[in-house]
Amino acid sequence: MFKSRLHMFEFKKKEAPHVFLSSQHGMYTYSDLERFTAFFKDLVEEKADSLKWPVAFLSESSDMLIFGIAACWKLGIPFIPINPKVKDDELKEYLEALKPVLVFTDTGNRRRLGDDHVVKMDENFFLNAFTHDVRNIDLPEPDSIKDSQIFGYFFTSGTTSKPKVVPLKRRQIISAAEASAQNFKPDPNHFWLLCLPLNHIGGISIILRSVIYDTAIYRLGEFHEEMVKEFLGENKRFQAASLVPTMLKRLLDDPLFKTHREFKSILLGGGPISETLLKKSAERGIPIVSSYGMTETCAQIIANPLLAPSGMYTPLKSVGKPFPPNEMQIRDDNGKVLGKNQSGALWLKGPQVFDGYYDSNENENRFDDDGWFNTGDYGHMNGFGHLFIESRRSDLIITGGENVNPAEVEEAMRKLSTIDEAVVIGLPDEEWGQKVTAVVTLKNGKTPELEEIREELKSHLTDFKIPKELKIVKDFPKTGTGKVKRWELVKQFG
Ligand code: ATP
Ligand code: MG
Repeated sequence: MFKSRLHMFEFKKKEAPHVFLSSQHGMYTYSDLERFTAFFKDLVEEKADSLKWPVAFLSESSDMLIFGIAACWKLGIPFIPINPKVKDDELKEYLEALKPVLVFTDTGNRRRLGDDHVVKMDENFFLNAFTHDVRNIDLPEPDSIKDSQIFGYFFTSGTTSKPKVVPLKRRQIISAAEASAQNFKPDPNHFWLLCLPLNHIGGISIILRSVIYDTAIYRLGEFHEEMVKEFLGENKRFQAASLVPTMLKRLLDDPLFKTHREFKSILLGGGPISETLLKKSAERGIPIVSSYGMTETCAQIIANPLLAPSGMYTPLKSVGKPFPPNEMQIRDDNGKVLGKNQSGALWLKGPQVFDGYYDSNENENRFDDDGWFNTGDYGHMNGFGHLFIESRRSDLIITGGENVNPAEVEEAMRKLSTIDEAVVIGLPDEEWGQKVTAVVTLKNGKTPELEEIREELKSHLTDFKIPKELKIVKDFPKTGTGKVKRWELVKQFG
């Protein structure tokens, strides 16, 4: 089935009206989006009286969900993308707290909701949208929607604790889209591959950037490495893709994986990026733009320049500089601003940075009087202002009074022949305060001895950084965005 769909991408020139979305199920144009949006507007006005109040989406990734999100953006309806994987009690909690006037749901999740204020997005819904007798397609002019309006309530990944709710305003997403456009010049002929979850800002920002700049999306329901390899490989028509590091690692596990010549770049971010991964990509000529971002900053806010492959003008491990006029500072725990090459907390300020969490208790100690936001991440800048992320502040291990950056130890362990992935955590310990512990997955099934590993690490790491304990696992507990939930490992082994 896939092969036949691929023919769609062999076209040479864009055909008018141009493509908004392409997926395994069909190809839709911007006229289709306009029609859908008019239908959506009629529906929300009929059921909720107004376009002012938030609506929620509780759905697996689908073409319809993309249309729904794009329509909300065009109409200025605030939306709440709920991860369908949340448990029922969490779902209830979110609905009670955020009070959407309507919940759009797919068939599979329909039974989880009551009867009021629910719209089922099934095949019929989609069909209706395109056959509906639209009263009149008078959509709001983009400029008529206030920039200060909230455009959505987003959930953080829940890597460190329960996901936090981040309200984002239109002006924040517009400035994030403008920043990205400085780097990846938008082109309506270009397809951006979307295989990130659609309940997180990372995936959603691909949709919004496309709608803002009239560019095209190709949706893969989920990350599927065989398909992605096909699509990015020789003679295919994708110019960019957003991936998280775990996805790229899976692609690179295939020694034959490469990208076609016209392919611009993989935008990589969302979680720690290992040097091993960047080196492997560089060796194989796979263009990578590594970036740093958070839900709180409308996804990427710091990135390397597209035309300067990592390692050429900026050091490989750096995530680059903030998109101007966003600014960053590195500060110590007392809030004092630090100089180059000094490690400390990363603070951000600028038009992409949110104004505060939905639950105001979460804002405590996160903003200073001048509006700077403490990201909770830890890193340093070099003399040129390139940022290096080291770890999260809360993941930093303090052992016998010494600071250990787990990412550094993990990087050293990845180079060992027996280790596939390593996650280094601090477990409570009477003698050391925290004991450096490595949780690993193995490469060849050969089980290494702790002493063997400690010996090998001696030439790479100072003594106190070398793990004192080794735990072997089959897999790591991960969030929907592919990040390791370290606290679960600490709970499991602590
Ligand atoms: P939660 O806040 O719920 O614990 P989360 O922080 O993982 O979850 P997101 O907003 O999805 O939720 O992720 C942002 C975080 O991802 C950043 O604060 C940072 O820790 C991490 N991150 C993003 N990009 C990078 C990067 N390039 N290198 C290292 N870490 C990164
Ligand atoms: Mg966070």
